[in-house]
Formats: sequence, C-alpha cells, structure tokens
Amino acid sequence: MNLIIFGPPGAGKGTQADYIVKKYDLYQLSTGEILRNEIKNKTKLGIEISSIISSGTLVSDDIVKKLVENFISENKYKNRLIFDGYPRNIVQAKTLNELLKKYGQKIDLVFKLSVSLETIKKRISERLTLEKRTDDSEVIAIKRYKTYEKSTEPVIDYYKKLNLLKVIDGERSIDQINKEISDIISLIEG
Ligand code: AMP
Repeated sequence: MNLIIFGPPGAGKGTQADYIVKKYDLYQLSTGEILRNEIKNKTKLGIEISSIISSGTLVSDDIVKKLVENFISENKYKNRLIFDGYPRNIVQAKTLNELLKKYGQKIDLVFKLSVSLETIKKRISERLTLEKRTDDSEVIAIKRYKTYEKSTEPVIDYYKKLNLLKVIDGERSIDQINKEISDIISLIEG
C-alpha cells in the first residue's frame, strides 16, 4: 500500500504519518525532512537550497524528483511508502505517477487533513518554540499556507477525480484523527 498525506504546514501531517508508519509498517517519505537534513549536513544540495527553504518557496521539481526516485526504486520500500509533502503541484503529481508506473506501483489512498489558517498560525507559533525551524515564523507560515492553497489544492482535486481522496477534519484531537485514518485504511487493507 502506498499513501499520500496532504495538509497545510502545521496541519499535523508529520504526527499522523508517524502513527500510520508504525501501525502499518510503512516508510514515511517526507521531502521537507530530507531537504532539511541536506541543509543540516551542509551537502552541496543543502547549501544550494538553504535560502529557498528559509524563504518558504518551493525547491525545483527536478531536485525533488531525484530524491523521490531514490526511494521508489528501492525494493525495500516497494508498496510501503507514505508521501508527506510530495507531490506539491500538478507537475510533481504527474511525475509521481510516471515513477510509480516505472517501478510497478500505484497510489492506493490519499488523505487530506483539513485545517483553518487560524489554527495553523497557533500551531506554528507553538512549534517555533519547540523545533526552531527557520521557516516557522508567522509571516512565513502564512506564505507557506498560501503556496499550499495555490499549488497543492489543485493536486488534491486531481486525486479526488481519481476517487482516491479522503478528507479528514484536522481540527480534532490527534487520537480522533488517528482512529478515522486507521478505520479508512482497514477498509482497503481488508
Ligand atoms: P515541509 O516540511 O513539507 O513543509 O517542507 C519544507 C520546505 O521544503 C518547503 O517549504 C519547500 O521549500 C521544501 N519542499 C518540501 N517538499 C517539497 C516539494 N515536494 N517540492 C518543492 N519543495 C519542497
């Protein structure tokens, strides 16, 4: 089973993905986390993308394509991926389709965590004190939310048309959301 989880920054994607990973023995492919690690390790790519990430803009589709293909092509991750933060636009969604087809896989289910901008601002300011991410100020949070609405919402529509989308109310407690997600997965897992 391969899944995608969508939601604006601060929606709780990471928390929910952690839970699904443990329960269903999947691997969480978070492009944001991979990119942040590149920056932390001061790799060539990390140095190249550091100012882009800090400004809250998306890095190029080609960069993320390479990162993602590294995982999809690996046998140990076959049909075990949960995509978090990818695809972020239609070009990436089409690329993902091609890559999955190339390695004999598909997307089985897509979740969208629905959360208001007000809640996002509150959560981001809490996370700022905990994690000290360079892209977590309120101004950048709003910018990332707008980018999400503009570029990522069309991608969600794309999966809706494919009948793969499940919209989850992300304003509720972590446990309630966990439960709804696992109930849905159980239906397709049998
Ligand atoms: P995230 O942790 O998913 O919120 O990602 C943090 C930052 O990493 C984003 O604001 C982008 O700059 C970059 N990033 C993560 N995933 C992607 C992607 N799929 N395409 C382009 N940029 C990305």
